[in-house]
Amino acid sequence: MSSEKTRFGLDETRIPEAWYNIIPDLKNPPAPPKAFAPDGTELTMDQIGEVLASLFPMECIKQEMSPERYIDIPGAVIDVYKTYRPSPLLRAKQLEKNLGLPGGVRIYYKYEGVSPAGSHKPNTAIAQAYYNKQEGITKISTETGAGQWGSALSIAGALFGVDVEVFMVKVSYEQKPYRRILMETYGATVHPSPTNLTDAGRHVLSIDPDSTGSLGIAISEAVEVAAKDPGTHYSLGSVLNHVCLHQTIIGQEAIAQMELADDEPDVVIGCIGGGSNFAGIAFPYYQRKLEGKSNARLLAVEPKACPTLTAGEYRYDLGDEAGMTPQLLMYTLGHDFVPAGIHAGGLRYHGDSPLVSQLVHEGEVEATAVDQTACFAAAAQFARAEGILPAPESSHAILAAINEAKAAQQTGEDKVVLFNLSGHGHFDLAAYEAYNAGELEDYDFAQGVTLCEAGHE
Ligand SMILES: *Cc1c(COP(=O)(O)O)cnc(C)c1O
Repeated sequence: MSSEKTRFGLDETRIPEAWYNIIPDLKNPPAPPKAFAPDGTELTMDQIGEVLASLFPMECIKQEMSPERYIDIPGAVIDVYKTYRPSPLLRAKQLEKNLGLPGGVRIYYKYEGVSPAGSHKPNTAIAQAYYNKQEGITKISTETGAGQWGSALSIAGALFGVDVEVFMVKVSYEQKPYRRILMETYGATVHPSPTNLTDAGRHVLSIDPDSTGSLGIAISEAVEVAAKDPGTHYSLGSVLNHVCLHQTIIGQEAIAQMELADDEPDVVIGCIGGGSNFAGIAFPYYQRKLEGKSNARLLAVEPKACPTLTAGEYRYDLGDEAGMTPQLLMYTLGHDFVPAGIHAGGLRYHGDSPLVSQLVHEGEVEATAVDQTACFAAAAQFARAEGILPAPESSHAILAAINEAKAAQQTGEDKVVLFNLSGHGHFDLAAYEAYNAGELEDYDFAQGVTLCEAGHE
């Protein structure tokens, strides 16, 4: 029996008090990171720990490998979550109607676009800013591409009184000014990367004074700033275990809201860039399956232009192009792979969360890859039915949800589909303009490029 209601709220007093840590519930223990000295010798775990301690708060490092199934959310973090959480869970009734679905096929979505920055990213930015403040850190440095992560961290820093310094890829800084303006309005300092402020930036500029930058260069600059100043830490918005952990607030709320809806999903869907919003909705359902309360399939959706899970290799690789980070065991297209310029910038990462990668490797999570134009068509169909303009990243989850519903319609089976709508697309109107004008193209893996060492300098 499903409820007749459309919107399933929760009282703010019912925000989960702990994040769900999947690590103790995995079939196999997660593989540790690896790092190497410039002369090629492998670093010990203690040495890796020292490097991490110069970049991240101790709390986040502990969470990276914690054996505890539940980790308490600090009260100050819950207080901020309460300003926009619980995020709504809705049944997409008009979309179901427009698709002509029979009553046995139902689509629900969890909407993370209600956060201050318009995506799920503040869920971890707020926690990270809080832990840094607790440890006496006065500044956090980070990189950003189009600015989704940078804007989430900027508001989080403003809330806890920590300065935020953002290295924004120069081409985005110049071509996509609106998220930069948002970050500056939140009080952050934003630099077009490469800059003259770091060795890494100066080195690039000495070779190519007109460099338009890359995420790899911006990471190098942000990490260097943090490594050189004891009062400054570095922050990452996806991929790492502690980031996935913070996002599990999404799935825990969704489980409670689906109970209010009197429905149980048969498939749980999220788009995947580095893996954090997918982990956020899927990990709590993984646990629910272990408890025997769910049979849901867990489905991660990636772009065909950057098919990490469906075409990548499962091996150790660097987290960044420039080689500043330790190596992680994950699906990867190679740390020097640069995908074609699709509009879902947040899904253009060469690797994926080691936790999500392990679940795919163990057969617990399915993955599929979809085309850009089909995603925008699904996003437009969704917008016309539900009113929300989705982020280009989120449109991947929408397309997969529609495909799952249509498949059930054809076979005549009942199916309940739940997907995570990770953010709104109000800063992505240029992409919609191109779509509306029929100017978008599809790209596949082969249209990406692999940079050789000399080429990317
Ligand atoms: C950053 C971003 C993503 C991709 O990152 P994940 O870590 O894979 O979640 C997806 N959707 C939106 C709206 C984003 O801002």
